[in-house]
Amino acid sequence: MTSKDRGILIVLSGPSGVGKGTVCKALRSCTPELIYSVSATTREPREGEVEGVNYFFKSREQFQQLIHDDQVLEWAEYVGNYYGTPRKFVEDTLNAGKDIILEIEVQGALKVKQKFAEGVFIFLLPPSMDELENRIVGRGTESEESIRSRMSVAMDEIRLMEHYDYAIVNDRVENACSRIKSIIEAEHCRKDRV
Ligand code: 5GP
Repeated sequence: MTSKDRGILIVLSGPSGVGKGTVCKALRSCTPELIYSVSATTREPREGEVEGVNYFFKSREQFQQLIHDDQVLEWAEYVGNYYGTPRKFVEDTLNAGKDIILEIEVQGALKVKQKFAEGVFIFLLPPSMDELENRIVGRGTESEESIRSRMSVAMDEIRLMEHYDYAIVNDRVENACSRIKSIIEAEHCRKDRV
């Protein structure tokens, strides 16, 4: 199989609260051909979250078993919970020639990069750090401690942006979305893919 027959692996990453989820959701509705990777996590479901749609919700024991059985492409511990990308679904999708997007935090994204150097790594930035804090607080689902912890992780994560191919400021969801669509289109026009 040559690279042009395989789908493109797109990794959308950036600090928690930057709006990755919202951008991804908008992207899915305007690019239905793009496949979305549903992660496994040990965190409790938030109100409205659905098993198998937002996440596969697991106990810590179940998650450790997934790691042990090599069923996750990458995993990371983030603010006290495990998050990981089911491996088989990603590989099957790429082999079927379809593009897939992973919406994951930075440590996990860097692990994916070690395995899929040909992937397209996009870093989503907040317009400012104040705006990022507003967004985390505004979500209304996080405790004081979780907000502090997420902001501190965010500062460290932004320093790792240099490992990415693209950086996009999430000023407005529609703008971020159309920039990501442009990136995907451009990647499909790379001379080794046509
Ligand atoms: P949340 O708890 O807000 O849904 O997610 C917390 C963080 O975990 C977000 O930055 C989200 O992108 C990230 N995340 C979600 N799924 C995965 C995954 O499969 N792997 C990794 N490494 N991070 C993930």
